[in-house]
This record gives sequence, C-alpha cells and structure tokens, in this order.
Amino acid sequence: MSTTTRSHQTLELDLDNFGRYRAMNGSNASYTPRDVSREFGDDYGSRIFSGNVIRRRLSPQVMDKLERTTRFGTKLDPEIADEVAAAMKDWAIENGCTHYCHWFQPLTGTTAEKHDSFLNFDGHDGVIAEFTGESLIRGEPDASSFPTGNIRDTFEARGYTAWDPTSPAFITINGGEATLCIPTVFVSWTGESLDQKTPLLRSIEALNTHAMRILRAFGSDEGVNRVTSTLGCEQEYFLVDEEAWADRPDLMLCGRTLLGADSPKGHQLDDHYFGSIPHRVLAFMGDSEERLYRLGIPAKTRHNEVAPGQFELAPLFETTNLACDHQMLTMSVLKKVAREHGMVCLIHEKPFAGVNGSGKHNNWSLSTDLGRNLLSPKSESHSNLQFLAFVTAVVRAIDLHADMLRATVANAANDLRLGANEAPPAIISIFAGHLLQFMIDELVEGKTIKKAEGSVMELGSESLPKLERHAGDRNRTSPFAFIGNRFEFRAVGSQASVAWPNTVLNTIIAESLDHIATKMETVVDEGMNESDRDAAMMSVLQGTMKDHQKVVFNGDNYSDEWKSEADRRGLPNLRTTPDALPALETNKAKALFDAYSVLSESELDARVEVLYESYVSVCEIEARTQLMMLNTMVMPAVVRYQSELAESVAAAAVAGVESPALKSRLEEIVALTGTLHSACGDIDSFLNESCSCVKDRSVAIRDTLLPAMERGRSASDSLEGLVPADLWPLPSYTELLFAGLS
Ligand code: ADP
Ligand code: MG
Repeated sequence: MSTTTRSHQTLELDLDNFGRYRAMNGSNASYTPRDVSREFGDDYGSRIFSGNVIRRRLSPQVMDKLERTTRFGTKLDPEIADEVAAAMKDWAIENGCTHYCHWFQPLTGTTAEKHDSFLNFDGHDGVIAEFTGESLIRGEPDASSFPTGNIRDTFEARGYTAWDPTSPAFITINGGEATLCIPTVFVSWTGESLDQKTPLLRSIEALNTHAMRILRAFGSDEGVNRVTSTLGCEQEYFLVDEEAWADRPDLMLCGRTLLGADSPKGHQLDDHYFGSIPHRVLAFMGDSEERLYRLGIPAKTRHNEVAPGQFELAPLFETTNLACDHQMLTMSVLKKVAREHGMVCLIHEKPFAGVNGSGKHNNWSLSTDLGRNLLSPKSESHSNLQFLAFVTAVVRAIDLHADMLRATVANAANDLRLGANEAPPAIISIFAGHLLQFMIDELVEGKTIKKAEGSVMELGSESLPKLERHAGDRNRTSPFAFIGNRFEFRAVGSQASVAWPNTVLNTIIAESLDHIATKMETVVDEGMNESDRDAAMMSVLQGTMKDHQKVVFNGDNYSDEWKSEADRRGLPNLRTTPDALPALETNKAKALFDAYSVLSESELDARVEVLYESYVSVCEIEARTQLMMLNTMVMPAVVRYQSELAESVAAAAVAGVESPALKSRLEEIVALTGTLHSACGDIDSFLNESCSCVKDRSVAIRDTLLPAMERGRSASDSLEGLVPADLWPLPSYTELLFAGLS
C-alpha cells in the first residue's frame, strides 16, 4: 500500500475516534471530517493499532466484535483474541518491532512495561515470530515488587495484566528500538486492582449506568448507547538546560530544587506569559508534537506559561480512559524529547520556590456516544432542565465529597503549590460564573430556566471586528470552575496521573446521578403530560440544589475572607497531605466506592496506604538529598569563604587597619553557618528515628522534618546571597530559569 493511501486512511481512523466528540465544542457543531494530512504530515496515528489499520487486517466479524467492545464497552469475546493478536504482531513487525509489552499504570504514579520478544521455537529446529491471543489478553508481572499497600506480601508475588481493548495498542521507538505496547490493567492474583486503570474503568461504568437513567427520565436516550466522561488536560511544565540540571542533585533526584536563592527577576513583569516562544523551545515542541501525533495524541495548544522557563501543552479532549493513557504518554514524550534537545523537562509541581508552580487543569465533561455534550446549556427550557439535572449532580457531589476530591490531589509535591496564591486553595468549591449562577438562581426560585445570553462588544474602531462576549467570565482562583460547557478541576498537580482524580470525580458524580434519577423515577409516571413531568423533575432538582449550593463560590478564592466564609459554610480546608488523606479512610468513602463497585474496602485501604507511603518516601528522599547537598556542597563552600574572610580580617589587623565591614560580614557568615549546622543536625536525627506506622510518620514529617528542612534552606539561601559566585557550588535560579533556552 502506498504511503499516501495509508496516511489518508490513518487519518480517517483518527477522525473516527475523535470527531464525534469534537462536535461538542460548540462552534464545530456541524463538523465534517476532512483530509488534513498535508498539514499534519503522513504520520498522524500511524503508530496506533486502531481504525483503518485494523479494519484492513481483521475479518469483518472479528472487527465488529472488537468495535462493540471498544465503543460500547460490551464484554470482549475471548474467541477473537488469536486473530487480533496475529494481526497486531504482523503490523508491529512491519513497523520494526521485535518485542511487545503489556503497558500498565501501577500505583507508583508512573507507567510500567516488561518486554517479551515474539520469538518462539517452531517445533523443528528453527524459530518463528509468534504472538498468541493468550499473550495478548494476559501477562504475569511480579506483583510484589510494585506498591501494593499490604495487599500482597513479598512472598506472594503473582499478579496479572489484562488487555484493555478500549485503548489502542501503540508502538514506541526509543533508542532506535521499536516496541509494541498493549495497554492493560494490573491486578493481583486475588483479583484486587493494583493500578490506576482498573478503578477508572469501573468508575466510567458507574457513570454510564446512572447518566443513562437521567437521559431516560428525560426521554432523550434515543439512539444513545453510552454516556462517558470526556477529558482534556492542560499540561504545564518547565524546561531547563541539561548542563545546569546535571549540576543539581536535587533536580536530578527529586525533580525540584531544595535550595536556591530568588533570582532578582522572576515573573514580576508578566513578560513571559504568551510571549514569543524561544526558538530552541519551539523546535522541542514541534518534535514532541510530531511524536504525539504518531501516537494519535491530539496535541492542540502550546504557549509560554507565567513563570520564566515554564510552558504548556493542551490536547483536544477525548474519552477519559483514552485521555488518561494519552496523558501518561504525553509526559513521557515531553521528557524524552527534551533530552534529545539538550534540555530537561521538569514536570514537578513546584520546581522553584517563590516561582509559580505547575498544574494540570483537568477539563471534565459528560458526553453521549453521539457526541452530545451534556454540560452544554441550550436556550430552550426543556433541555436546560436536563442540563441542570447534570449540573445539580455535580454540585451535590462536590458538596458531599469535597474532602475526597481534595484527597485525590494530595501529595508531597502538590502541598508546595496548593493555596500559594498561584494555584487554587485546599478548600474545594465550585465557580459557577454569571451564566450558570443565573440558571441556578432561576432553578432555586422555581422559575423557567432560560440561558443567560452573551453580548456583543464594540472595540471602538470601525476596522475591528465585533466580538461576542461569553455569558460568563472565568475565575482562575477557583479549584473547580464551570467553563461554559465543562468543569475544570484546577487543583490537579502537573506530574500526577489524572486517572485517580477522575476515578473519584466519576464515582461521586455517579452517586449523585443515581440519587437524582431515583428521585425522578419516583415522582414521574408514564401518564404525565410534559409540563407536569417537567414540574415534578424541577422540584427534585430545586430541593437538591437548595441543599447543596453552599459549595458554590464565585469570588476570590485566594482571599482571607473566603477562608472564614468557607469555615462558616462548613466546607473543609485540608491544607496538607496528612490532613487530606483521612477523607479516604472514612466509612462514607468505603461505602461509596463499594456501592458503585469501583474499589472494595481492601482495595481502598491499600491505595490509601500507598499514598501515605509515597508521601513519606518522597519527603525522606528530599531530606536526604538536601542533607547531602548542605554537607558536601554548601558547607565546604561556606567554610572556604569564611577562611578567606578570617584571613582578610587578620591581615587587616596586622596592617593596623580597622575593618568593621569585613568583621560584620564574617560574623554574619558564622551565624548563618551555625543555623545551617543545627538544621542539618535536626534533619539527620529525624531521619535516624524509626517509625513503623506511615500515618504517624507523615504527621511527624509535616510537623518536624519539613520545618527543619525549611530552616536549612533558608540559611543556605541567605548564604548564597553572600558567598562569592565563583565559590558557590550550584547553578543559581538565574542560570536555571534564564540561561540556555533561547
Ligand atoms: P484554557 O484557556 O483554559 O487554558 P486550553 O485551550 O489551554 O484552555 O485548554 C482547554 C482544554 O479543555 C483542552 O484540552 C480542551 O480539549 C478541553 N475541553 C474542551 N471542551 C471539553 C469537554 N467538553 N470535555 C473535556 N474537555 C474539554
Ligand atoms: Mg491553557
């Protein structure tokens, strides 16, 4: 097959997958697929086993069965596995693969893969390339070497990976080696989930079940097979020059700086945000996008972010499972391509103290498989009632489970960012904005619900176009904001897997949809005329909205007044990870996950244990790294300068000159060295204490270790401002943030 034909078909494949959802972007309502291969190269989606690639390789019967599973979530027929595996293998070998792997997302927060070659004996005296249905469906990695939260002991090793046919297999090429990667879930021998994907898929099922009930109640389920959540994640990241990075053990081991005085210039001038992209960075972005396109990842937006050296990438949204897999791949592509360009991509939430950190805004909505966005208001009142049913479910869910949602974004890295007046506070509330608030008010007052309309802006010059103004403004201080046709959960950290926050979001909203659907099903009966039915449904929504609208806040989430107001409203303010995680240990949480078959009690316990373990490990690694840097890099430099100063003071005295400036500098250095020394002692003794309970340890870390590290850092940063630059052993913030990117 010629390249042109292949690329054309590959592109149709992409549009099959994404086009239906694009219709929800309003202005694209009458979207028709067109060939954009010239603009995007021949390669879009060429490394995924999907759409036309499989259509050409599978029999129509097998294709049909597979599609029903991928599109509508029907049970996979195991009979088709052999044929799919053989086709996958042929495609992979044609694309240069010798190996395949089950690609999964253990509770480490990263991805894992174990490579096997297609090699097998042919039964005579030769070898063949073979890939069976059995190998496609099931793998057997060692479960006890991944975090299991005590579900498994070290001697209980067996675990399984199982093929997720709803996310297409893909080919990665690293170091010239092509590998076929098969997205899978990862469970223990006992069947309990040990990964991010299993509960996510279960939560998607729960959401579908109860969203369909709402559609049925409104009689708008015709032709709809499925409702799913959609997701678009805006990825923020920093780039630093590789040479400077290599001189910073903290960046190398922890992904963030543990020491470093402020640069005289940060983002005070707001001159980086949306500025012209430095050419070296643009070349990196172009290469990354090319890599992403081949994997069928629809990278759409790129720009400079607020902080120097900070950038963003946003894709077109997709169904949540796919978007989560794509999000993990995106982070890995950005990291790999940056190294090829002599830079390092830092995805940590707070690489630099005092400089804006990075998040991953989680744009979330609900869509039918026909591409209808259920969170997009219409102007007629009937469909707005249905829209409000979904909105009411979101408001109720966030009000009831703000604590749990907060817990999903709790980790050591995000603690450095949330509530720092650059990211939303730890108090979870919803920004409704003018448009939605207007409709909520109408609902609560029992009026007909119309949509607030936008207006036209005159820009004061005839030559300029008239601009349509949206009916609502944006609020960048809110953790959970309505953006006209979706909600944006803005508290998610930049390096986090989005699977867990979305699992919880889907589950709590499924519960509220269930609650509302049940109430509606009791008040509505077959014989009712349309207006009585609408009135009955409206009264259900009205009551629910009244009970839960206290979680809506449209003001400045950074202000101190909001903290007191939130307290009066009874909204939780869980500032740190040890404060936040207990929300996942309550009976309320256990009952919820169990009721919707998302996580059993033991699976939830295990997950929480892993979250505590991870907090403890991350903080202790950081403490050890900081101690090493203070003892072996900072202290020796300071001692050198101290001796130089002492010698100068002594020399001046010998020469009979009074030198108060030199003396006072020496005293300052000596005092700071003393503080540094005592902080190092505190860090060291904390690390030598033993504690077998991770929960107690996490509280002690927050209350004792982190303040000691802060004391050490503060002394070191003050010394950095005094010690001669040629003696200072670490690249400075100025070098890291400003050098080498243009
Ligand atoms: P912002 O102006 O908020 O920075 P961006 O364009 O950077 O916006 O990102 C917006 C994100 O929201 C994109 O990833 C986009 O695909 C996603 N998005 C838009 N509509 C939906 C939707 N209906 N469901 C999920 N995500 C959506
Ligand atoms: Mg953006």
